[in-house]
Amino acid sequence: MADLLTDQALNELELSDREFIRYSRQVMLEQWNEQGQLTLKKAKVVIIGCGGLGNIAASFLAGAGVGQLVLVDDDCVELSNLPRQLAFEEGDIENAKALALANRLREQNEHIEVVAQTQRFDADDAHHLFNQADLVLDCTDNFATRYALNHSCVAHAIPLLSASVIGWQGQLLLVDPNQMDYGCYQCLFDSAQDSAANCTTSGVSGAAVGIIASYQANEAIRYLLGQRSSLASSLLLIDSQSLQNQILKRAYDENCSICNAPRQKENVNVD
Ligand SMILES: [Zn+2]
Repeated sequence: MADLLTDQALNELELSDREFIRYSRQVMLEQWNEQGQLTLKKAKVVIIGCGGLGNIAASFLAGAGVGQLVLVDDDCVELSNLPRQLAFEEGDIENAKALALANRLREQNEHIEVVAQTQRFDADDAHHLFNQADLVLDCTDNFATRYALNHSCVAHAIPLLSASVIGWQGQLLLVDPNQMDYGCYQCLFDSAQDSAANCTTSGVSGAAVGIIASYQANEAIRYLLGQRSSLASSLLLIDSQSLQNQILKRAYDENCSICNAPRQKENVNVD
């Protein structure tokens, strides 16, 4: 049978010798193994934002062998980005972040496919963008995009792993369409509490961004491998100064205008 399959089909079914060697240390993990590596190879992850969080998270996912990465960002690389956006170098300044990061990831791993979209996340395009996606990473740096992304992911029932960092602190949560009893991003952070604070106005530690993005990438991989994530029911707060992490339990807000409608629909189905 095997010789009837195209190279592409074979690639989808098994790991090459070169891939085996490349991924040998992670496949060694009991919870990862060869089957998990194949799962990653078939996975598609959409990364919204190619700044500090997106740089590091995307690099880990590319390194781990996630088969398809879609990068979305409309910004260009600036000199002040370089302390924390480690995939970029001085020669990338003024180039589109999504394209520069995509090029870097392709150089990093020949076995993956990387698609770059040099545009801001557009909810009207979400249906196309999320097509066949297994997971979306929120690596944005502004509240407007974060709320719009949360809304789109809930509407399309696509899991969203949302990270943010400012100063020396960061946070992480997973909005899982299969566990909506714990609510969405907006259940926790109502848009009325919107803040103008961001890295531009408040400053940020590059290494702190790396810590949060590493947690985000690790949880993304664990989620794709089918492992249970406590982030679906909680909010992780990470403080890189005190070295204290806090895990806060989440619950849905019955007044949330974003995830209340799908939940009501689910209840109708269950009843
Ligand atoms: Zn909600």
